[in-house]
Amino acid sequence: KTIGIVGAGQMGSGIAHVSALAGFNVLLSDITEDRINSGLATINGNISRQVQKGAVSEEVRKDAISRINAAPTLADLAECDLVIEAASENEAIKRKIFQDVSRLLKPEGLLASNTSSISITRLASATDRPEKFIGIHFMNPVPVMQLVELIRGIATDQPTYDALVEVVEKIGKTAASAEDYPAFIVNRILIPMINEAVYTL
Ligand code: NAD
Repeated sequence: KTIGIVGAGQMGSGIAHVSALAGFNVLLSDITEDRINSGLATINGNISRQVQKGAVSEEVRKDAISRINAAPTLADLAECDLVIEAASENEAIKRKIFQDVSRLLKPEGLLASNTSSISITRLASATDRPEKFIGIHFMNPVPVMQLVELIRGIATDQPTYDALVEVVEKIGKTAASAEDYPAFIVNRILIPMINEAVYTL
């Protein structure tokens, strides 16, 4: 019912946007209130553009925006059913976030990372609940891109995987199961392909 998002940048604000439109309550967190507010402003601007294009009604926009709230401290995420980390791609930063969040989050709360490439098993080891930890890799821009990779760490249990498939489906996207291998599926193919295009040129 309630998703906490740590990191209100490009990806975190996109994940908050689609989660709120899908009916989840969202709590958005970042290192400063300015960054949270800037994420909230981006979300409002992007949903308003969807209203102008006729993709979303004004009423739906208002409802979605009312479901997203700022979480100035990680303690505000304690009652979330799922916390998705979408902070900078730096393992030390992510590990610290997961250590802190695991101490505060209710025991049944699930943890997920939107990392593009860091090992899910290693990130899970920074938490008190590796069996309730999973990778959920959204593509950029989140409101547009259909695919979401779900990555099990070595300890991720089936109920956690199943719950995340349900979340992805509720958001209206397609889940693909990826191995916990650097760059998962999409970037493992995309990055060498981009390099090859440059070599070819
Ligand atoms: P971004 O720089 O736009 O946003 C990162 C946010 O994390 C910033 O607002 C920053 O203030 C915040 N942050 C940093 N340290 C923090 C901390 N300790 N606590 C809370 N917040 C913190 O980056 P992004 O592009 O949104 O990427 C976020 C994650 O998503 C990365 O892991 C990245 O690899 C992944 N990702 C990015 C893309 C993409 O195309 N941009 C696509 C898929 C996945």
